[in-house]
Amino acid sequence: MKINIASVLKNSGALMSFSGVVDMGKFEFMGSNLSFESPVSVSGNISNLGGTLEISAKITGEYSTECSRCCEVIKKKIDIDLSESINEDFSGADEECFSISGTVLDIEGAVKAYIYNNIPLKFLCSENCKGLCPVCGTNLNIKECNCDTADYDPRFAIFRNLQ
Ligand SMILES: [Zn+2]
Ligand SMILES: [Zn+2]
Repeated sequence: MKINIASVLKNSGALMSFSGVVDMGKFEFMGSNLSFESPVSVSGNISNLGGTLEISAKITGEYSTECSRCCEVIKKKIDIDLSESINEDFSGADEECFSISGTVLDIEGAVKAYIYNNIPLKFLCSENCKGLCPVCGTNLNIKECNCDTADYDPRFAIFRNLQ
């Protein structure tokens, strides 16, 4: 996501606003599959505070993934505040997050890093999700089954699935 920052460079006190999109597509994160149907929106402003560029922006979007208990598809909204400051001459800037060519600053890496940092490690369709029956696989949120799970130890589920 490229921004021409010529108007704020070497101009202490200058402020500019910007907006754009970053295409996140589909990817796997910590065992969950995430799918962004449309690019995330990024809008904010950049100000030059005496040689330091202050970047603040809002990242908004939506993705779908699966409940880690019952596998139902769930949608999650993204609403993240990005706040970074970098030196006007880009010394010490994290190259993974910011790249510069001429007066064009690319913040796509920073936007992606903020999104990755905000993805939960586990997704649940609801706190009370009953999950799937470990014996027959019925979605227990939808209906009950008659399986005997009284002495079923979920830690052995993986071995059962291998049989
Ligand atoms: Zn669920
Ligand atoms: Zn069952």
